[in-house]
Amino acid sequence: MIVRKSPTEIEIMREAGRITAEALRVVGEAVGVGVTTAELDRVAENVIRSAGAAPAFKGYHGFPASICASLNNEVVHGIPGARKLHTGDILSVDIGAIIDGYYGDSAMTFPVGEVSEEAKRLLDVTRASLEAGIAKCIEGMRLHDIGHAVQTVAERAGFSVVREYVGHGIGREMHEEPNVPNFGQAGTGPALKRGMVLAIEPMINAGGAAVVSLADGWTVVTRDGSLSAHFEHTVVIMENGPEILTLE
Ligand code: MG
Ligand code: MG
Repeated sequence: MIVRKSPTEIEIMREAGRITAEALRVVGEAVGVGVTTAELDRVAENVIRSAGAAPAFKGYHGFPASICASLNNEVVHGIPGARKLHTGDILSVDIGAIIDGYYGDSAMTFPVGEVSEEAKRLLDVTRASLEAGIAKCIEGMRLHDIGHAVQTVAERAGFSVVREYVGHGIGREMHEEPNVPNFGQAGTGPALKRGMVLAIEPMINAGGAAVVSLADGWTVVTRDGSLSAHFEHTVVIMENGPEILTLE
């Protein structure tokens, strides 16, 4: 069942989203050559806790940190650690926060120093694919209109959509129904209704779509070693269209 949120719940989710967005912005400002992903994790946790919220990922199925930090060919679920960032890297940061029982979830891929033209284009296209998906969050549209829009933008640019990991409903749980794939057939799936809150999160590879999981049990990488990008927003379907909750 897809749970629709009341105006009161949406108001709390605006706060969860705002805190998540603030943490992601501050982490983005801290990204730079020589910085470790463990340092970025501490930055994120400080922002979240200072706002009176808690990091949503820490302890989630045993995940050890407040952010997922996925570098270059890593797609999602990278564990922060002692690795230093180098110029030319791209770093995907995924952050979640919970306050008053409700979650926010957002991700962005940051360039480190000067990056390749291909990396720049991958970031631009992945961000654009997220925007195209969000634009379908209108009452009366169908769920797979979202994935179809994401897929169209990504594949037109010559990139691939990861199939194994998808967006999701969000609210009192970080992952609620429905799954929100980043691919699909337009005009299919459940009808979108006011009060539904969805985390839309295209994971787009510069090469092939295939991914594999590493032995750490978390990190997911592209099978062909190509770069991958990840952008995510938590979005509520309102009477007059989509409202992005993970904005400051
Ligand atoms: Mg996320
Ligand atoms: Mg998510």
